[in-house]
Amino acid sequence: MSTTTLPTYDIFIDGEYVTPADGRYLDSINPATGKAWYQVASAGAVDVDRAVRAARAALTSPAWAGLTPSARGRLLRRVADGLAARAEDLALLETNDNGKLIRDTRALYGNLPLIWEYFAGWADKVSGEVVPTVGTNLTYLRREPIGVVAAIVPWNAPINLASHKIAAALAMGNTVVVKPSEITSAGILEMMKVLDEAGVPRGVVNVVTGTGADVGEALVAHPGVDLIAFTGGTATGTAIAKKAAERHVPVLLELGGKSPNIVFDDANTSNAANGIISGIFAAGGQACTAGSRVYLHNAVYDEVLDKVKARMSDIRLGNPLADETEIGPIAYEAHMNRILDYIRIGQEEGADLTFGGGRVSDGELGSGFYVAPTIFENVTSQMTITREEIFGPVLSVIRFDSDEEVVRQANDSAFGLVAGVWTQNVNRAHRIAHQLDAGTVWVNTYRALSPVAPFGGFKASGHGKEGGESGVLEMTRLKTVWVNLSDAPTNDPFIIQK
Ligand code: NAD
Repeated sequence: MSTTTLPTYDIFIDGEYVTPADGRYLDSINPATGKAWYQVASAGAVDVDRAVRAARAALTSPAWAGLTPSARGRLLRRVADGLAARAEDLALLETNDNGKLIRDTRALYGNLPLIWEYFAGWADKVSGEVVPTVGTNLTYLRREPIGVVAAIVPWNAPINLASHKIAAALAMGNTVVVKPSEITSAGILEMMKVLDEAGVPRGVVNVVTGTGADVGEALVAHPGVDLIAFTGGTATGTAIAKKAAERHVPVLLELGGKSPNIVFDDANTSNAANGIISGIFAAGGQACTAGSRVYLHNAVYDEVLDKVKARMSDIRLGNPLADETEIGPIAYEAHMNRILDYIRIGQEEGADLTFGGGRVSDGELGSGFYVAPTIFENVTSQMTITREEIFGPVLSVIRFDSDEEVVRQANDSAFGLVAGVWTQNVNRAHRIAHQLDAGTVWVNTYRALSPVAPFGGFKASGHGKEGGESGVLEMTRLKTVWVNLSDAPTNDPFIIQK
């Protein structure tokens, strides 16, 4: 048991909050104040084993496997209703946990029920298929649940990201073990109360909190896990995929990005400037979708950048709980220090720091983890700040002259998550969208997301989709059944049948 006076969160296994086997807890720090504000169980392999066993048992339990697909859909809709009633609490919780603005978390969690409703709709709409083989066969395809899904999520939008995985997995009849980030565990644990109240049977969703080394690795290695659905950094995703390969377990990887946001000479420059700000400074750049490489056509370079800088000059940095704040803190101290290192590296490698660049510690911001919105110019494609994901409010700006040149530069990246294109020319818009190596391309908008639209990256940004029908089908396995309808005697056993 914990001896702290702070609120304490236990793990959630088989429908109950239980203490971790070895009784260890971690402090969770509010990044706006730098102070611990709750403790969360620091679980380990024994707890993971209990959770996976609970999920396996639930998989075939009458309470879960006995539900019709339509009943599963109704259950997910009840979860959606419960989450709608808790939206404000969850928004507050997440803002205190990772420093995301309250206006942002209110929008995010006001929309949370839509994710559950969307997947609820699919519960009874995924059909099999009869395929046209020759002869007297009936050959049909079944979409089956995969089994126990391990959902491993990061800290930057934990309830939202976990919901995409859990709701899609449940819609298709799977069971789940969730591993939240050790930085932000409370929101997902609170969400379990809503699932419980809605009537999700015990063991169907379990949550084991703790570090990647203690909980994440044990979950990935557990023989009772059938699919790993991971969102997080590329290095972690690579390590997970290697481990999963040893057990031949499929993985869905939603990884990092270093996304290009391209402004052509015919763009609406005010909208483009807003799109650049939204891309890199919303959420303090702590978004996988961060448009951290901005390519500006020479003809509009100064005009667009002047607009960005003018808007950023009076940006309100501060307490994420205040309605007027536009940029909050970085989610945790070690991450802030990593961002500050990148700013130093950018300067050492010769980029021009033309805006911001450093920690902000005026007044009460001093105890929190604040980094000034930062712009680098005269950046080359080879520089570290152009190649690596920083996951903070640091923008690299690069000039270009031709469409061919900018497509080549934009695609010259290990990553391929998203891209922005700003142009009024419809031919160019589609042509460039088709040429870019990115799983999502936004034309004259940025950071537009919906559970209805598949999302997922190419290259080092991962593989597999979340959202849309594609995201639902990722949570199924496809089985082909051949039935010989003929009464004729079996023919030559030494040749292949058809
Ligand atoms: P991270 O990779 O450090 O951690 C993600 C999760 O993996 C955490 O729960 C962590 O505890 C766990 N983990 C760490 N090591 C593990 C291991 N060896 N085995 C199993 N689990 C392990 O990432 P982060 O810092 O929490 O999140 C930021 C990253 O997430 C960024 O790279 C960002 O781009 C990415 N992200 C991607 C998307 C997307 O949809 N593509 C969305 C949000 C965030």
